[in-house]
Amino acid sequence: MSPLRNSRVLIDHSALKHNFQCVKQLAPDSKVMPVIKADAYGHGMADVAMQLDQADAYAVAMLGEAVALREAGVSKPIVVFHGYEDMEQLQQMAHLQLQPAIHHLSQLQLLESYSGAGLDVWLKIDTGMHRLGIALEQVDDYVAKLSRHPSINGFSMMSHFANADVPDNSLNTAQIENMLKANNTVGAECSLANSAAVCALSNSHLDWVRPGIMLYGASPLTGVSAESLGLQPVMRFESRLISVQHLHADDAIGYGSSWRCPQDMAIGIVPVGYGDGYPRHASNGTPVAVNGVRTSLIGRVSMDSLYVDIRGMDAEVGDPVELWGDTVPVDEVAQSAATIAYELLCAAGNTSR
Ligand SMILES: *Cc1c(COP(=O)(O)O)cnc(C)c1O
Repeated sequence: MSPLRNSRVLIDHSALKHNFQCVKQLAPDSKVMPVIKADAYGHGMADVAMQLDQADAYAVAMLGEAVALREAGVSKPIVVFHGYEDMEQLQQMAHLQLQPAIHHLSQLQLLESYSGAGLDVWLKIDTGMHRLGIALEQVDDYVAKLSRHPSINGFSMMSHFANADVPDNSLNTAQIENMLKANNTVGAECSLANSAAVCALSNSHLDWVRPGIMLYGASPLTGVSAESLGLQPVMRFESRLISVQHLHADDAIGYGSSWRCPQDMAIGIVPVGYGDGYPRHASNGTPVAVNGVRTSLIGRVSMDSLYVDIRGMDAEVGDPVELWGDTVPVDEVAQSAATIAYELLCAAGNTSR
């Protein structure tokens, strides 16, 4: 454990590789770029890249992340979703053989005044999410300019789903149609599918899939468990009991006295809180495992501690606690805290790992 923390996050490499194989089985005809932005959703970016050595490329959000991967010795193609913001970054990307996404006119203009080492780029188009990407009507103009640019070795096209976690949402079909229409006369390699689409929208797989969350063993689909998709949890967030208190019926615990003992009972104190990336909004009843047995969080989560119900458990100081992992799916904790597993993995991984 880190000398600064009582909790730790363990990463299961074999589960990570298993989940990658799930992607390969679901999308056998597509190349795979694992999405390892945000320090691989808290799992350790360089480490995850090394483990997923069957990847065809890797994807990150920012230049700094891609630089760190090159410094760690990663030599495969790296796609940078946000692209570059100035000429210096563009030159650095070419120098490191990174593949920027071009999603804005300002980037095209920088490219037009660039004449250096050749590079491959991704044209990011807005098919309906309205986050990053050029409008469909502009695709022909961009394609013409990229095609005749002497420093562009080649380009591919990408877009991102807004609602793939709900597979029958009508926007999904519209986004797929828009993507195919945009590429109709271009014939570039295309990428559209995130994890949810890898699992549930096989007609969106195209040339490249971009899975993130499913590699880390959480479910990309609303209302569907990771286990039922054959995914294995990769991160285990663990700690131990540092105190056991024997309380009386009606004793109130924690800030706001929000939970009262319904009977004489024992509670355990776990030295993990929102300062460690555990969600403060986790409600009473959020699953936690003590000695491998599921029980419930009670009371309000503090900065560096939380309470668990250990009635009938015979638990002692020093006993192991799993905040999420094999026994407690991170998706269940996320649901109890009104958030998504993405946020919890990033928060715990980036503070406790
Ligand atoms: C984060 C991200 C992904 C991965 O999404 P998951 O839902 O984690 O699979 C794919 N593409 C883009 C553009 C992203 O930003």
